[in-house]
Amino acid sequence: MPLCTPYIHGAEWDYVKDCLDSGWVSYVGSYVERFEKEFAAKIGMARAVATTSGTAALHLALLAAGVEPDDEVIVSALTFIAPVNAIRYVGAHPVLVDAEPQFWQMDVGLVESFLNGNCERRGTELFNKRSGRRVKAIVPVHILGHPVDMAPLLDLARLHGLAVIEDATESLGAAYRGRKIGSMGDLSCFSFNGNKLLTTGGGGMVVTSSQKKADWVRYLSTQAKDDPLEYVHENIGYNYRLTNVQAAIGCAQLEQCDAYVENKRQIATRYRHAFANRDGITAMPEAEWAESAFWLYTVLLDGDSRPVLRALERQNIQTRPLWQPIHLNTPYRGFEVLGGEVAEDLCRRCLSLPCSVNLTEAEQERVVSALLDAVS
Ligand SMILES: *Cc1c(COP(=O)(O)O)cnc(C)c1O
Repeated sequence: MPLCTPYIHGAEWDYVKDCLDSGWVSYVGSYVERFEKEFAAKIGMARAVATTSGTAALHLALLAAGVEPDDEVIVSALTFIAPVNAIRYVGAHPVLVDAEPQFWQMDVGLVESFLNGNCERRGTELFNKRSGRRVKAIVPVHILGHPVDMAPLLDLARLHGLAVIEDATESLGAAYRGRKIGSMGDLSCFSFNGNKLLTTGGGGMVVTSSQKKADWVRYLSTQAKDDPLEYVHENIGYNYRLTNVQAAIGCAQLEQCDAYVENKRQIATRYRHAFANRDGITAMPEAEWAESAFWLYTVLLDGDSRPVLRALERQNIQTRPLWQPIHLNTPYRGFEVLGGEVAEDLCRRCLSLPCSVNLTEAEQERVVSALLDAVS
């Protein structure tokens, strides 16, 4: 039983056939425009630009936010590595922020004490007193489907003049105090790789309410071509555009988005009931201010999750540990990290369980009993 697989059951075949029949298979085509327009509407933002991946979306969002080489960018330490790599692509330095133990998200209290205690304002800009580098942006990563506590984070960003780029790749369909995830940052990024809520095979999206930023992202994503006819360039661009065939799959997937979130929440409810009052297992948390999308259902065990992972593997049930915290990965040793122990502990004890949107109740019962057995 796989951890999380795509579910292709809508108009995907019809829309892809339409692309192939019409010959519009590459970077230009009506499905790209439609996917962008419908996705922007879904999040409630004015603009969306489709990209080859979520990582490419993050790279372009950082550039559009004005992050420059040698700037510092505040980012979660407990995350898939993509947003931190994107920070390095622009030559900036990550400041890694531990997770909080309640909901496992970026600890906003640590961000606050860093900004108020370790940084100083010079003119309109903020500088890290120790490193001397300019602090330019915050990248909250809403991991596993659950929001970061955004209100105090947005207040801090406003107070210190920092850009906010939401990494919303794992939390499409989630909400924070009634606001959609991806609608609160200056720019927000989504991913459509194979195990995300929606898939286009591979793909991503930048959304923003700023026409100017959207135009800049689009320009950079198409090799920064400055003339519709002549090949002239004022900037270094990238080839980061999603193809029409992928966008066609995306349009069909997007039509099923609400149903997928509903399924994920049902799966989470069943797991929560099954693990209630069980020794050694804590169900996945959801803050009272959050509506989690429960993208990747994850439990917290009392001890090391690896022996449990191996026991489930022997029964052909795929589970996964969380990511090794970023500061323990070779390229990121030596970068500034605020705390880190909570992320390390969660990495040791958390386990993600099968939660594909079409997981049956019978399959889920098999996971539950195998997990309870393994834990006891
Ligand atoms: C999946 C993911 C991304 C982007 O992934 P791509 O594979 O490049 O589409 C970025 N950040 C996080 C937290 C992710 O989980």
